[in-house]
Amino acid sequence: EHLTNMIAAGEVVERPAGIVKECVENSIDAKAKTIEIEAFQGGIERLIITDDGIGMDKEDAHLAFMRHATSKMHSEEDLFNIHTMGFRGEALPSIASVAKVELNTNDSNESTLIRYSYGELICEESSSCPRGTKIDISGLFVKTPARFKHLKSPSYEFSVIADIVNKMALSHPEIRFKLSHDGRVVFQTSGNGKIQEILYQMYGREVAENAVYFEGKNDDFKIHGYAIQPKINRATKYFMYITLNTRLIRSVPIQKAILDAYSHFLPPNRFPIVVLQIESDAQLVDVNVHPNKWEVRLSKQNDLLELVKNTIRDSLSNSLQ
Ligand code: ADP
Ligand code: MG
Repeated sequence: EHLTNMIAAGEVVERPAGIVKECVENSIDAKAKTIEIEAFQGGIERLIITDDGIGMDKEDAHLAFMRHATSKMHSEEDLFNIHTMGFRGEALPSIASVAKVELNTNDSNESTLIRYSYGELICEESSSCPRGTKIDISGLFVKTPARFKHLKSPSYEFSVIADIVNKMALSHPEIRFKLSHDGRVVFQTSGNGKIQEILYQMYGREVAENAVYFEGKNDDFKIHGYAIQPKINRATKYFMYITLNTRLIRSVPIQKAILDAYSHFLPPNRFPIVVLQIESDAQLVDVNVHPNKWEVRLSKQNDLLELVKNTIRDSLSNSLQ
């Protein structure tokens, strides 16, 4: 069991940013309105993720560290009808197998504290904490030197965390995010639902003011988002934030469709900045491709690519007139 958790940890959490992603997804699933992420030394030394979501009762908190004890799947059919960020039930057991973890959770009825140290349950008792969940992770990979060795510098590890938190904030503009590093707040959103405000935080005023709204749909997909006008864009590489049913995804074909949409307008050495939110029937999507859940398999992908390309190209072209 411990060994299986450690192997899974290699796939789900190879670095602090992976832990942040898993914990923030859990907070989102718990309907948090505010999520705070505190990193110390790039998250290598310590990571604290606090939310004001629904929390867990004592029994659920206990089960949360058991492998495949997800509270989010009830039948095989659920696997093809996924509406939550998590569903595999392996993040918490994996993290607890390779670090010290302290979980404090309150479901507005009772408060529970659970401590794990490198796969071993240290204590489980009643506590007192505000409604929601706080997870405090330290000493990552200290007992697995082969993994520890793959970590890079604190500043690099933090930059990967910041990137993930930016993406999470863009895909959930209605949630307040706060990210700090070694006690200093470096990124904060208001949760008022406005994507431009988050772009402003990330890229400055000129980019935010030149964000062109687009929307479009076909029989199976609805898309909307912002494409920054190519003349403004001072990015040194492209930035494409793509979500599918609010889940962040990586997709080379969709990136290519966006590049195609920009191809007529983009001067040399300029790069698209795009926030693209895709909605589709959950039945068309298979997110169970890889444990890290970044990749998805889509039915009717070609129709989606056409829609993305045409919608973004048309709105860029209109904005230039
Ligand atoms: P999954 O997200 O795939 O269900 P995880 O290992 O990430 O699996 O989490 C295990 C379980 O712990 C979740 O199903 C959920 O019930 C509970 N959980 C984890 N984090 C939180 C949180 N922040 N708030 C409420 N419940 C949580
Ligand atoms: Mg999860």
